[in-house]
Amino acid sequence: MELYSGHINKLIEELAGLPGIGSKSAQRLAFHLINMPQTRVERLANAILDAKANVRYCKECYTLTDHEICPVCANEKRDHGTIMVVENARDLAAYEKTGKYEGVYHVLHGAISPMLGIGPNDIKLKELMQRLEGDVNEVIIATNSSLEGETTAMYISKLIKPTGIRVTRIASGVPVGGDLEYIDEVTLLRALEGRVEL
Ligand code: ZN
Repeated sequence: MELYSGHINKLIEELAGLPGIGSKSAQRLAFHLINMPQTRVERLANAILDAKANVRYCKECYTLTDHEICPVCANEKRDHGTIMVVENARDLAAYEKTGKYEGVYHVLHGAISPMLGIGPNDIKLKELMQRLEGDVNEVIIATNSSLEGETTAMYISKLIKPTGIRVTRIASGVPVGGDLEYIDEVTLLRALEGRVEL
């Protein structure tokens, strides 16, 4: 038996396919959307389409940006010889919020996970190795402290070691990503300062 209209069901289904949204949340959101004024729904729909049409990967660090080169990579005052490797753009934003990191980034868009079938070729690793052919002094690996993050860190360090470029890892036990508040900025900076050689 169909409890809701087919249109609502379709909306719930689409919302439930988003990360972190269970079927209950999807239902709540669907009904909320239906009850929103038409103009707000259009604004939301347009924002999604607009972002999808205009956001792309930075040609250098692969973060998401409206431009060919993101503001961090375009900034000549940044230290382009220090590259911090992060799993996603949220982690980049977290470090950027501290305002204390002066290097540039490389966004992998994921982490190696044999369990989920995500291998080195599924993340932006080749692209990182290409960047290292330039003038790079240090690669700071700031992947998460999860099993996947650690696996990725070890894999990257093994790849980079032979090049002679310095490879470091931020201090472990730091929750990177998610909603990082002020206290976490301090933790992030401490992790960065306490980074160890790999
Ligand atoms: Zn960039």
